[in-house]
Amino acid sequence: MSEDSIPTHSDVLVIGGGVMGTSTAYFLATMSDQSVALLEKSQLASGSTGDSSAILRHHYGDEAIYTDMAWWSHQFFQTFDDELDAALSYEKSPLVRFADEETAGGDYARAGYEVLRERDIPVSVYTGEKVGEQYPMFDVTDRYDVAVSDDSAAYADGTDAALGFARGARAAGAQIVTGVEVQSLETEDEAIARVETDQGNIDCEAVIVAAGPWTPRLAETVGVDVPITPVREQVVLLDPPATYAEAQSSLKPTTSFPGGEWYIRPDFGDGVLVGTHRHTEETDPDAYDNTPDEETILELVDDFADHVPELRDAGLKGQYCGVYSTTPDHDFIIDQAGPAGCYLCCGFSGHGFKHAPAVGKLTADLVLEGESDLVDLEYFSLERFEENPTGHGLPADNI
Ligand SMILES: Cc1cc2nc3c(=O)[nH]c(=O)nc-3n(C[C@H](O)[C@H](O)[C@H](O)COP(=O)(O)OP(=O)(O)OC[C@H]3O[C@@H](n4cnc5c(N)ncnc54)[C@H](O)[C@@H]3O)c2cc1C
Repeated sequence: MSEDSIPTHSDVLVIGGGVMGTSTAYFLATMSDQSVALLEKSQLASGSTGDSSAILRHHYGDEAIYTDMAWWSHQFFQTFDDELDAALSYEKSPLVRFADEETAGGDYARAGYEVLRERDIPVSVYTGEKVGEQYPMFDVTDRYDVAVSDDSAAYADGTDAALGFARGARAAGAQIVTGVEVQSLETEDEAIARVETDQGNIDCEAVIVAAGPWTPRLAETVGVDVPITPVREQVVLLDPPATYAEAQSSLKPTTSFPGGEWYIRPDFGDGVLVGTHRHTEETDPDAYDNTPDEETILELVDDFADHVPELRDAGLKGQYCGVYSTTPDHDFIIDQAGPAGCYLCCGFSGHGFKHAPAVGKLTADLVLEGESDLVDLEYFSLERFEENPTGHGLPADNI
């Protein structure tokens, strides 16, 4: 993609070239006549988006708002290449939740089953000995009472998605400028008037901060406190032995096990991706260790010996770490906050990718109309933390 030059004015400025900023720029540019520019300090998808495992599932326990956003987004992803004249890597992989009945995990799995069934989203449930029969690749026989499968789940690629949205936004008239860092937001008469960058000021009427874990630093420049904790998560890519491919059959599911702090997903080709999902290790998004800890890898090997014995002797073919932008309740923040014209699109807490098309549409609706009929924007308000610092409380699960 060739470079756009830095503008001196744009009606709307989007800060951040991850999947959320690019999706928002795409919807703004296609839905309105306003001038739109996106500023990215580094390269597109260089933040959390480029490290995303990009799992697209719809099962969210009883949090139907996420099921609706994920399903809307998944339909969009399925027509992504045509809509945006782009290429999105994409594979089907049913997502299965194992649990014991009458536990929090069992209730969560069953509640999600009902939400999917009510919406005619493909879903299956297996109980008793059927659990082990259906999933011979995992050591689950006689171990869990129930398995709920989100049958149409899939996975994609974060970089492809951000580049595709940027391409679509540009085709609709937006400017996409990389290598420009916004240093502060500036106001006049209590409304956003411009942003200051490392390459000069840009006048604007509205600004959307979609800067991932860097969002609080920018919001602070107009006195807005955003409760995001950047946390480091670790990913390893495995080269499984041939026996694993046989045990996988054609099903190739994605899963995590009750009590486990990691998930396992097939990877493009014959690989396997394993990621931690701990939400515990606070980190600096500008200076974190990009290599998984030896101790974590040893823990994974132990867990594999227990749940996925075929992978115990898998080779290691890649490893890296990424950063989640975690809110106290793991729910998103999509809101107008502080001075007029200042919008936040952040706090995606390790599960944002699958919602990126819906988030872009919702944010564009918020900026252009002040409301959206896609889902109830109130759920993502920043104010919920004023009323209660823990927001909605933590979900039972969230891969
Ligand atoms: C390891 C890992 C696995 C994940 N797996 C999944 C998954 O399976 N499914 C799922 O749904 N979600 C997943 N996620 C979460 C998902 O990837 C994120 O929610 C999503 O990518 C967030 O996108 P973003 O655009 O908000 O942030 P980012 O991708 O971090 O983008 C923010 C951008 O803003 C730029 N920026 C910051 N400050 C400035 C500034 N001052 N000026 C200009 N630009 C600036 C940054 O350089 C960056 O490119 C995962 C995340 C990680 C890290």
